[in-house]
Amino acid sequence: MKPFGYVRAATVEEAAEALAARPGARCLGGGTNLVDLMKLGVERPDVLVDVGRLPLDTVEELPDGSVRAGATVRNSDLAAHPLVRDRYPALSQALLAGASGQLRNAATTGGNLLQRTRCPHFQDLSKPCNKRAPGSGCGAREGTHRDHAVLGHSEHCIATHPSDMAVALAALDARVELYGGQGARAVPADRFHRLPGDHPERDTVIRPGELITGVVLPAATAALPSAYRKARDRASYAFALASVAAVLDTADDGTVAHVGLAFGALAHKPWRAERAETALRGAPATPDSFARAVDLELEAARPLRDNGYKVPLARNLAVDVLTRLAPPVRPARHLTEDS
Ligand SMILES: Cc1cc2nc3c(=O)[nH]c(=O)nc-3n(C[C@H](O)[C@H](O)[C@H](O)COP(=O)(O)OP(=O)(O)OC[C@H]3O[C@@H](n4cnc5c(N)ncnc54)[C@H](O)[C@@H]3O)c2cc1C
Repeated sequence: MKPFGYVRAATVEEAAEALAARPGARCLGGGTNLVDLMKLGVERPDVLVDVGRLPLDTVEELPDGSVRAGATVRNSDLAAHPLVRDRYPALSQALLAGASGQLRNAATTGGNLLQRTRCPHFQDLSKPCNKRAPGSGCGAREGTHRDHAVLGHSEHCIATHPSDMAVALAALDARVELYGGQGARAVPADRFHRLPGDHPERDTVIRPGELITGVVLPAATAALPSAYRKARDRASYAFALASVAAVLDTADDGTVAHVGLAFGALAHKPWRAERAETALRGAPATPDSFARAVDLELEAARPLRDNGYKVPLARNLAVDVLTRLAPPVRPARHLTEDS
């Protein structure tokens, strides 16, 4: 492993300064992804800026009814927090669907969002990978790609983003709070990660020298019915083959008043299903409508040689999750002679 320096930041400003001082500096959250990648030689930071002691470890309700979770809140604590469990069940379920109990006890909100892809070509220094070594090629495209992207991939990269939590944040209209040399800013969670395009080495829109300070869950989606479902090879301790986070509110007449839908493990970022959402707004909240809207969204899918199974898998997950969130369809009243 390459030798590296270590800085323990006491304030957010101090952390940002330490990151800006060395382009090769990286934040250290729980270390469950970064340290593994350092051992493999994939990540080679000059300095680790430990953010573990920053005052960013609380979940709190803000005056406008939204909920902020600090960047160092552990995944287990976020999943179990009453404000999250009661108001944003999709987020709690997504967190609990990830990794294992031990990992969730160590992993942080900021680190979870910035974990790197699990593409085996990215993790193997002997393989070409444009994400790890820009310009070296993509070994996965003609190699092992059963777990890879079916939406939004480019000739340069077909990797998927692995976080479950990020998919729920996208569907819930959360925002990611950042701090750097130019001050604080917030980015919608569904725009935080990016598609690979010509620059797959950049996973997100975070700027050099910035750190994540927290995520904010809006009041608008609080307490709306929401859920997360994940299909995977094993019942636990496995990344998604496809996953769905959905938020659904229905009007009294049985039409869709609000819908947020995002797919995980289909793309380089959590895939916000905007076409499906547009088709569903105002439509009857029925399995047929859900199926039509999801099919419309997945028309954009471009499966590779070995991952075509993801398209029907994601479709069926999404239709099932939306159907379960919708109120049960009342049987039609039959008029009788007495009525
Ligand atoms: C065996 C195994 C199975 C797993 N299964 C799943 C799964 O099913 N689903 C899932 O979602 N995840 C899974 N994970 C991944 C796990 O969730 C991540 O490793 C974890 O969330 C990363 O959080 P961390 O705090 O440990 O990040 P770290 O490893 O500390 O950091 C990860 C990245 O984030 C950066 N970073 C950390 N904090 C900040 C900050 N505040 N600001 C800016 N940058 C920051 C680091 O510099 C680094 O680049 C699995 C991991 C393992 C090892």
